[in-house]
Amino acid sequence: MQLYNKLSAKEREALLEEAGEDRLTLSFYAYAKIGNPHLFRNHLFIAWDQMEVLGRIYVAHEGINAQLSVPAKRFDEFKEFIDRIYFLKGVRLNIAIEHDLKSFLKLKVKVRKKIVADGLNDDTFDVRNKGVHVDAAKFNELISDPNTVLVDMRNHYESEIGHFDGAVTPDVDTFRDSLPIIEEDLKEHKEDKNLVMYCTGGIRCEKASAYYKHKGFKNVYQLEGGIIEYARQVNNQQLENKFLGKNFVFDHRRAECISGEVISSCHQCGKPCDTHVNCANEACHLLFIQCPECAEKMNNCCSEECMEINALPYEEQKKLRKGKGNSNKIFKKGRSEVLKYKS
Ligand SMILES: [Zn+2]
Ligand SMILES: [Zn+2]
Repeated sequence: MQLYNKLSAKEREALLEEAGEDRLTLSFYAYAKIGNPHLFRNHLFIAWDQMEVLGRIYVAHEGINAQLSVPAKRFDEFKEFIDRIYFLKGVRLNIAIEHDLKSFLKLKVKVRKKIVADGLNDDTFDVRNKGVHVDAAKFNELISDPNTVLVDMRNHYESEIGHFDGAVTPDVDTFRDSLPIIEEDLKEHKEDKNLVMYCTGGIRCEKASAYYKHKGFKNVYQLEGGIIEYARQVNNQQLENKFLGKNFVFDHRRAECISGEVISSCHQCGKPCDTHVNCANEACHLLFIQCPECAEKMNNCCSEECMEINALPYEEQKKLRKGKGNSNKIFKKGRSEVLKYKS
């Protein structure tokens, strides 16, 4: 019986042993044609709720994107369920290196327009005509080739705390913004260079690689399973690790440590630091990098102004907040002008 896509029985055993009675944190995605996402959503929810699965799952006509945790002892049951869904049979499950009991606290399955907010019109190109998947060993080989352009398909706040050595890291807030920028930068090299890309778990590259092929790039490669899977392979196969710093992840852990070095700075004092926090002022909630000393000095806030607001009684804060959404600042993640050391 095939249990994990690419793990041997031995590797799998080691993984479950390591997790013990705990939970496995994993992610997967698939592009598919789903006729009735609401029905599919309910099907997933009923089954997974019963299996004590927790996580955040997006379902759309174009497919599924799931980040979740499963009790280690129910993993087989979970895998059998997945394999009974035709477009998920044998799907690669990205399993996190660090298993955290609290990576997710609820099961949320949501129907969305898209599984990734990419702003791309699907009808303009074929998502299935994607770049060549490469594993960690092949990826290392490719990125040492001087004829390769390596592109980080993530956002600036993700690549700031960790990225591959030598990667182009577009200064963008969203995936959608990065596509035309990269295309413009590389337009002279559509045929002669290798375009190699990576992201957190592989899903963004799945579409981006198809997009670039559609735009005329000839040699497009993508890191299969993203940084999460790369880290796992580097560990298991004792490969050279070319990723510097931390991998930003979208659960409460915020980041997975991959190499020891800290490549970013506290946005308030400039000291080496790679810990993301949200400003304690609920009305601000800005995502930024803050060292423990600054956190203490600033009462976990991003600015003097937020400190003052945060010190007010809750009812008064609520009054101030009325009618003002905080979504703008959340979206601006780390770009606020109040941050002195934000490069
Ligand atoms: Zn600091
Ligand atoms: Zn703030």
